[in-house]
Amino acid sequence: MPTLLCVPIMVLNPDEALDDALLARARGAEIVEYRVDGLFKGRDDQADVRAIESLVADSPLPCIITCRPAWEGGEYEGDEDARMALFEHLCGLDRPPNYIDIELAALERTPGAHARISRMFPPGSDRAPALILSVHDFDHRPGDLFKKLSALRSADAARVHKVAWRARSLRDNLELFELLRERDRPTIALGMGEFGLMSRVLAPKFGALLTFAALRTESATAPGQPTIDELLNLYRLRAIDRETRVFGVVGWPVAHSRSPHVHNAAFEAIEENAVYLPMPVPGSGGGWEHFKATLGALLDDARLDFSGCSVTIPHKEHLFRFAREDQSRDWLIDPIAQRIGAANTLVISREHRHSVHNTDAEGILAPLRARLGALQGRRVAILGAGGVARAGAVALADAGATVLIHTRTRPRGEALVAHVNELQGPHEGKASLAGPDDLRSCEVIINATPVGMTGAEDSASSPVAEEILSSLHETTIVFDTVYTPAITPLLRAASERGLTTIGGGEMFIAQAALQFRLWTGRDAPIALMARVLEETLPG
Ligand code: NAP
Repeated sequence: MPTLLCVPIMVLNPDEALDDALLARARGAEIVEYRVDGLFKGRDDQADVRAIESLVADSPLPCIITCRPAWEGGEYEGDEDARMALFEHLCGLDRPPNYIDIELAALERTPGAHARISRMFPPGSDRAPALILSVHDFDHRPGDLFKKLSALRSADAARVHKVAWRARSLRDNLELFELLRERDRPTIALGMGEFGLMSRVLAPKFGALLTFAALRTESATAPGQPTIDELLNLYRLRAIDRETRVFGVVGWPVAHSRSPHVHNAAFEAIEENAVYLPMPVPGSGGGWEHFKATLGALLDDARLDFSGCSVTIPHKEHLFRFAREDQSRDWLIDPIAQRIGAANTLVISREHRHSVHNTDAEGILAPLRARLGALQGRRVAILGAGGVARAGAVALADAGATVLIHTRTRPRGEALVAHVNELQGPHEGKASLAGPDDLRSCEVIINATPVGMTGAEDSASSPVAEEILSSLHETTIVFDTVYTPAITPLLRAASERGLTTIGGGEMFIAQAALQFRLWTGRDAPIALMARVLEETLPG
């Protein structure tokens, strides 16, 4: 049976809840969960049982009734006897709900609950409602998970199992998928929070009974719950099946990355059975260790069909190191990644060796070649000496350009110049440090700092002083690698002076298109990818 898309609705007002259920149906949900504990919020009397009855009777979609107690993260603070009585009443209705969710912990902490639940949900009965027996942990993977699983399995009344915990790393998803693979009855297994998104999107790949999506961003009933629009349109939930290959962007932070929009749209356009997800791996507190453990686990889980990823800040050097140090697999490091000493693309191959690449280099070269043709002998200034500057400096020097590095931190600039100049062929080193005045003699100026980027400290400023910009030759090309916003203060000032400009979006698409080709063996739908990027960017 295909995985159902369920929208949870916190019921504060039954009429509004029914309106939300109608909207959920219109947007593609197949089932709703009414969180009736919302009706008890801030009340010391009993909620109106008739209101819950009408909600079930008038529901435009099959429904789950949940009355989550405060001791399991819900709003219900009344006594257990009354809660069980509510469930008994619902079970006796002519038109009962399809499912009732009751916590495993209720069986353990409420005297007599076992017997009452067995009477409500006679084992072997296939009549509605069906019992969803659930386990939640809002902090982390339950320490006694195996004990809880065993208790779930021995509860004959349960027709569905639900296990949800706050995922603390991507690896939690792999264990949730294992639970789905080993299920002995319909199962829901979800990771809460940013790290758990993968479990929600890939639920159909592993045969989950359902996955939850919020109707609106603000109406999520669990941390990190995606919206129905994201699940259906960004991650294409309906297209995910057992065979779907899994890609993503590994980095920190990645929640706001545009790469999932761009790559998922491209996969859809060429009808590739693949999905691309944000894959958060923290960078602080042992970034290399986090990266190594996570990538190793993703690679080892054959049934995940993990097929490759983009790697961004702060893990590009970690990917390169992983490929160099990992003894248990056979790796190919492409020459430009080798020369840069960092990689941003991983390709996993079933037939050949796994490989790592640096497509940032192509992201910088392609837009320049499109304007200038050969880059041999061109004078190019790069502002900054970080990862993008290094990729650009090595790629440009390899293409025969003279590279001038302008940085605020001299030792970092010197280290980059030394790195480029110590490389052997195809072109011998051609980099040097530059002061602001040297920019005037350059044919190209590339900003590889975050200055001008939305959210950066100096988002309103330009990395090139006014007097320098106004003294540039009219044929100078100003290339800003920053792509949020699409038009940075530098690009605006340069185009006002009639200079040719290249935005970071063009670099982003050029490097993404090469990744796409490496993963699929097919040309990327570049115009579509550029349009999708533009639609998701501010200004
Ligand atoms: P990085 O490794 O952190 O390097 C940033 C560089 O910028 C460092 O040299 C840093 O100098 C310098 N810098 C930072 N703030 C500065 C300031 N206020 N004034 C002058 N210099 C400053 O970052 P990265 O990975 O190279 O990325 C650089 C930029 O490239 C990003 O901000 C992003 O916008 C852009 N980018 C674009 C794409 C794309 O596809 N278009 C892809 C990746 C990145 P210090 O050493 O002195 O701190």
